Amino acid sequence: MGLRILLVATHHQKALDDQVYHTVTAIRSLVDTYDVVVVGDKIKTVIAEARRLDGVASVLKVENALLKHQLAEPVVEVLLSIYADYDMVVFPSNTTSKNILPRLAARCDISPITDVCEIMDDHRFKRPIYAGNIIETVSTKQPKKILSIRAASYSKSAQMNKEHGRIVECACPELKCGSNYKQSRMNQLDRPELTAAKIVISGGRGLGSTTDFDLIYQLADELNAAVGASRAAVDAGYVSNDYQVGQTGKIIAPDVYVAVGISGAIQHVAGMKDSRVIVAINQDADAPIFKICDYGLVGDLFEVLPKLVLHLQKRK
Ligand SMILES: Cc1cc2nc3c(=O)[nH]c(=O)nc-3n(C[C@H](O)[C@H](O)[C@H](O)COP(=O)(O)OP(=O)(O)OC[C@H]3O[C@@H](n4cnc5c(N)ncnc54)[C@H](O)[C@@H]3O)c2cc1C
Repeated sequence: MGLRILLVATHHQKALDDQVYHTVTAIRSLVDTYDVVVVGDKIKTVIAEARRLDGVASVLKVENALLKHQLAEPVVEVLLSIYADYDMVVFPSNTTSKNILPRLAARCDISPITDVCEIMDDHRFKRPIYAGNIIETVSTKQPKKILSIRAASYSKSAQMNKEHGRIVECACPELKCGSNYKQSRMNQLDRPELTAAKIVISGGRGLGSTTDFDLIYQLADELNAAVGASRAAVDAGYVSNDYQVGQTGKIIAPDVYVAVGISGAIQHVAGMKDSRVIVAINQDADAPIFKICDYGLVGDLFEVLPKLVLHLQKRK
């Protein structure tokens, strides 16, 4: 029998998380077909979407009110009841899986391999360490593997028109839950979300103040782009920390990343270096960001940005 892979499809109640589609591309570099498990409560639309994933054979559906918020404790009980049939359990690397995966790995006594950026074959995987400065190759002899896939390293897979995946209704095991869900508060954004946007405009300490950070929003609005920031800009209070790009912020790979007034410290670069095109605007010609950018503009951002915004407005 070929390699049996189970994809744990994380979701936000109504739809699959975007990273699931990138994880499918990673899985399909190994196998033609795989199974998906979706756990939750009242997840009809998510199941329908999972059935349209490219290459999916079966969609294992586990519904229970206690699974509604995908808390680690009940979800792991479910995964423990089904993982034995598979050689590999694969998660997209995201906040939901970062909560579930370690608990599952501990309960299965399997050493997990996280943030995989390249699947070489069924037992060798590449993953970044030291803030992305080194890519290590991990070779494992474990008969069963638990992995998470870094979305930025794989392109998004296509969604099929037809719901071809076979639904398998799975019995829910007895669930233990020592923790309780209280609330989630989503920030309401009127511009694209940082991790999903095609274009990201990021501002750094060079902006100098919350008021002047507005220049970043103006440019982002003209380009329908998301807004990001360096940690220095976040620490200075120009924006909230959910804008932070980097080792301790979001790891993103948009088509275009524009770094304005950002020096290019390794911890920042760790979060954006996989972007397809990197543009830097900085007044210091020796700033490290110019070593990794595709297009660099040496200049004062307070002169450059207003001109750029005006130019884009005129083109409309
Ligand atoms: C454990 C750890 C984790 C970290 N995680 C992160 C992380 O996730 N993300 C992150 O970003 N950082 C992170 N950092 C911090 C990181 O090391 C840098 O301090 C930070 O990225 C610097 O932000 P910056 O580039 O905005 O500021 P600076 O390094 O101060 O650079 C500001 C830049 O703006 C330019 N500038 C100033 N005025 C103008 C102007 N008028 N016009 C044009 N250019 C101008 C300057 O030339 C300079 O290059 C981390 C650090 C540590 C130790």
